[in-house]
Amino acid sequence: MNTARSLRHQRCYHHAAREAAARCPECQRFFCRECVSEHDDRVLCSSCLARLNKPSMGVRLRLAGLINVLRAVVAIIVAWSVLYGLGRALLHIPGMFHHSAPWY
Ligand SMILES: [Zn+2]
Ligand SMILES: [Zn+2]
Repeated sequence: MNTARSLRHQRCYHHAAREAAARCPECQRFFCRECVSEHDDRVLCSSCLARLNKPSMGVRLRLAGLINVLRAVVAIIVAWSVLYGLGRALLHIPGMFHHSAPWY
């Protein structure tokens, strides 16, 4: 086969010393047998396989969303406690003013 012979002239994208055994249909690069794996009857390279592996990406996105929600909750709690402390401080200040107010 012509394609098999042309593959022999190609080198693995990751291993320059190795002859290419397959071509990734996604990135069109050549890879050795160790750098490719079958996925849905297609031979893909490891980076394309990881890119096409959507479920892990979704989990990561959902985790990022959860972290954003947690950050917002923490920000609200911090803002509330600061306002609460400010309110308490403001409640104390008039009392101090009453004690030292010269017009009293
Ligand atoms: Zn690829
Ligand atoms: Zn390789």
